[in-house]
Amino acid sequence: MTSLTVDRPTTFDVHSPATGTVVGTYPSHDELAVEAAVDRAHGAATWWRTAGFAERARRLDRWRAEITRGRDELADLVHAEMGKPRSDAKLEIVMALEHLKWAARHAEKVLGPRSVTPSLLTLNHACRVEYRPFGVVGVIGPWNYPVFTPLSSISFALAAGNTVVFKPSEYSTGVGVWLADAFARAVPEHPVLQVVTGGGDTGAALCRSRVGKIGFTGSTETGKRVLAACAQRLTPVLMECGGKDALIVDADADLRAAADAALWGGMSNAGQTCLGVERVYVHTDVYDAFLTELLDQTRELRAGSGDAKIGPITMPKQLEVIRRHIDDAIARGGRALLGGLDAIEGQFVQPTILVDVPEDSAAVTEETFGPTLVVTRVATMDEAVERVNDSDYGLGATVFARRHGQAIADRIESGGTSINAFVAHATIPTLPLGGVGASGFGRVHGPDGLREFTYAKATTRQRFPSPLALTTFTRSAAIDSAVDRLVSVLHGRIG
Ligand code: NDP
Repeated sequence: MTSLTVDRPTTFDVHSPATGTVVGTYPSHDELAVEAAVDRAHGAATWWRTAGFAERARRLDRWRAEITRGRDELADLVHAEMGKPRSDAKLEIVMALEHLKWAARHAEKVLGPRSVTPSLLTLNHACRVEYRPFGVVGVIGPWNYPVFTPLSSISFALAAGNTVVFKPSEYSTGVGVWLADAFARAVPEHPVLQVVTGGGDTGAALCRSRVGKIGFTGSTETGKRVLAACAQRLTPVLMECGGKDALIVDADADLRAAADAALWGGMSNAGQTCLGVERVYVHTDVYDAFLTELLDQTRELRAGSGDAKIGPITMPKQLEVIRRHIDDAIARGGRALLGGLDAIEGQFVQPTILVDVPEDSAAVTEETFGPTLVVTRVATMDEAVERVNDSDYGLGATVFARRHGQAIADRIESGGTSINAFVAHATIPTLPLGGVGASGFGRVHGPDGLREFTYAKATTRQRFPSPLALTTFTRSAAIDSAVDRLVSVLHGRIG
């Protein structure tokens, strides 16, 4: 393979964030290599599309079985590359399998051709709509959920009939390669799912290539670069970006359950979750009781290697962000009830609970991506909703309340909200997942997630000539006046 660049290393290493040891070495694919992969994907696209929904579902089921049989090995790889506990990695795999199954089973019903009714003026036409694959979809994924997150795009893009070229994060490359190898065992005939490996340059090359759509999941800042690159070819993009999600606790909430959800939502995966809880707004009547419960539950929790429930921070540079947020919060009057600046120990960050933090501090406004929670007292649920919505992000949210959960959730401006459970909406295959504002646009999962990787194609067939032939130069004055009378009947009697 010829390289366009001369001095760039042709391979790169993936390091374990817990130990620093090299756990894999992979090629850095340059522009030519990416274009070659996209060409191969185009070559396979007709075969995959014309295989039809049933055959694709059969192959995707086989892939699902391959992943299921290899899940211990895959979980080990996730653990080695990005550091999360093996049992959390297995949970992530289960969730990805659920969505994969749903996409394979429902693609035909959601995307297949169906008849639709014309309007009164166009009754002489039979109308059909169907959702067609783009051909080749490029998927760019993050490292924090290296199975669940890319599969949220890949499974749906494949089920819709696209071939896929996947660029995993350089921090979780082995996981991406493993998934593609498992796919090749299920679909050996053609390169329907390929992986290109490398850093941001490889992802950028994929954005410039002849793909029909890019499914991007990652930070908002990188998302802007992806969008700019895709603008050159007018390539449509799905943007699954960052978040600053909040959890609301109403006065009548189950405080133990709310604290458990805040803790898991904030600290699991070492806080490196797009939908992770980073802010907690608690009704003043239960603020003290909630804090006591939260602190009690958190004291036992430790970050560490091996069997610890919280793993390392995956990206070394993220430690600086976490440090800056804690530092800024404390410098501006906040207090660390647990953790704090001392919480950062090498690549590990111990659970940190901050209170009395001003709303305009970085710990409240920016994505921290570490095991920190900012807990804030609010006088009313109106105030809670106002503060939750006062954010550039709008990915998810959680509400704990007995009586007014739905009413509170309805007022939150986010792509999804879960009531009395953390992040449930992301795990339910029939529900769409995505964000608003700086959290992105477009949806994965559910029917919307299937349609996301297609374009709508409309077809009409004239069944008989219309008595009101409109789109012809032979249209007469009599027809014009008939239409004029008709339009008054159809549209002029309102109000
Ligand atoms: P990044 O934005 O750093 O990277 C995401 C992907 O983009 C990686 O594969 C990265 O490659 C690649 N990339 C980097 N630069 C470019 C470029 N110029 N053009 C194309 N691709 C590029 O995100 P992280 O991997 O650090 O993931 C964490 C972020 O992802 C958080 O903000 C999190 O909130 C968000 N996220 C959102 C989710 C959602 O559903 N909304 C789900 C999961 C995470 P490389 O890593 O090799 O640099």
